Amino acid sequence: MNIILFGPPAAGKGTQAKRLVAGRGMVQLSTGDMLRAARTSGSPLGLKVAGIMDRGDLVSDAIVIALIEEALPATEAAGGAIFDGFPRTIPQAEALDELLAGRGAKIDLVLRLRVDDEALLARVTSRFAQEGRADDNPDSFKIRLANYNAQTAPLLPHYLAQGKLVEVDGMATIDEVARQIDEALNGVRV
Ligand code: ADP
Repeated sequence: MNIILFGPPAAGKGTQAKRLVAGRGMVQLSTGDMLRAARTSGSPLGLKVAGIMDRGDLVSDAIVIALIEEALPATEAAGGAIFDGFPRTIPQAEALDELLAGRGAKIDLVLRLRVDDEALLARVTSRFAQEGRADDNPDSFKIRLANYNAQTAPLLPHYLAQGKLVEVDGMATIDEVARQIDEALNGVRV
């Protein structure tokens, strides 16, 4: 089973993805984590994307699509992927559909975590205080949220039309969000 955790920055996608990895043995594919790892390693890719990420802007489609393509084979052995923070643009969504189709696979479910902007800002402010992630500063966060609304939210009709979209109340407690996700996943026939 392949699923997408969909939602604005700081909606709780990473938290829920890690739970699914532990509970279901699926593999989390977070392009944000991959890009941060590239930065930490000091690779040419990491150097190229650092400024873009810190500003809160999107890295190019070609870069993130290549990262996902490289990571797909390992997810098949594990029995499924959780896409977290990808796709973020229409070209990324189309590329993902094609990559999966080429491997005889597909997206089974898109879980949309709904969280209002005020709560997102509160979460990211406390994460900034705790972890100091450069792109969690208020100015970058506003850009990330604007990019989400302009470029990522338009994917919702794409997945709605495919009958794959399930809405989850991302304002609920972590356990309750997890319960709603489990309920949705248990209803999927692969
Ligand atoms: P968030 O907390 O917003 O979910 P992520 O960890 O997913 O943040 O991503 C952090 C940054 O990495 C983004 O703001 C962007 O610069 C870059 N990035 C991650 N995934 C993508 C993607 N699919 N397309 C373009 N840029 C991406």
